[in-house]
Amino acid sequence: MLLSDKTAIISGAASPRGIGLATARRFAAEGARVAILDIDASAAVDAAASLGSGHIGFGCDVADKSSCEQAVARVIESFGGIDVLINNAGITQPVKFLEISAADWDRIQDVNLKGVLFLSQAVIPHMRARKAGSIGCMSSVSAQRGGGIFGGPHYSAAKAGVLGLAKAMAREFGPDGIRVNCVTPGLIGTDITAGKLTDEMRAKILEGIPLNRLGTAEDVAGIYTFLASDLSAYVTGAVIDVNGGMLIH
Ligand code: NAD
Repeated sequence: MLLSDKTAIISGAASPRGIGLATARRFAAEGARVAILDIDASAAVDAAASLGSGHIGFGCDVADKSSCEQAVARVIESFGGIDVLINNAGITQPVKFLEISAADWDRIQDVNLKGVLFLSQAVIPHMRARKAGSIGCMSSVSAQRGGGIFGGPHYSAAKAGVLGLAKAMAREFGPDGIRVNCVTPGLIGTDITAGKLTDEMRAKILEGIPLNRLGTAEDVAGIYTFLASDLSAYVTGAVIDVNGGMLIH
């Protein structure tokens, strides 16, 4: 198993069809103990229980620094250490540039970008003391091509910010044995887009995807498993596309 004896925090992993929970399932199958942190506390507890025994779930708002600090302290108390952090929590909003209000901008930046800062700030001192750790951060094809399918420009900006932040973290904390990488998924079938994808939109999107299908949460979970494991021991500051060829560059 790729993650035997490892412990992992995954944010935003309570949504039943989401990338976070698929990653949690894959990590658990590879031998890791998983802590699910999600804004929906009871769903986080249920999601952790669904993985089997030994996993934990807590409420945590990644956009709130003290909430991140408290949740991470609870995980360290329960597991004794954290080897892997997956900054997965995110929200989107399909609006056009001129429609973005100040409140929309703040909300989207707070969860998608500031959330990566706060949760990583809570975990890194611990990883630094142990001289080891792997952090995976969720960006999006939207960051690379100036819009995915559903996210507005403020979402593209936040996810592009994640790329810069993660690369800077990789540079700063490499000497401490901490690796930081990003994943840039294309269109993945989860609840973030549920109900919004018409058959016509789907057919049009597939025309631009060489692998001729939408992505699955498991497609992304596999990449996070690689990044969390020692298979990627010499990989840091990288951005891995999981988009079926939607963007080749
Ligand atoms: P999802 O809506 O199923 O999951 C998002 C999870 O984040 C939910 O469990 C939600 O409760 C949680 N969350 C929201 N706000 C939070 C907060 N403030 N603190 C903690 N948790 C919070 O969506 P998903 O598609 O699985 O998305 C997971 C990540 O992947 C997001 O960052 C999203 O932007 C990114 N992403 C998704 C796609 C896609 O096509 N689905 C593509 C590229 C990137």
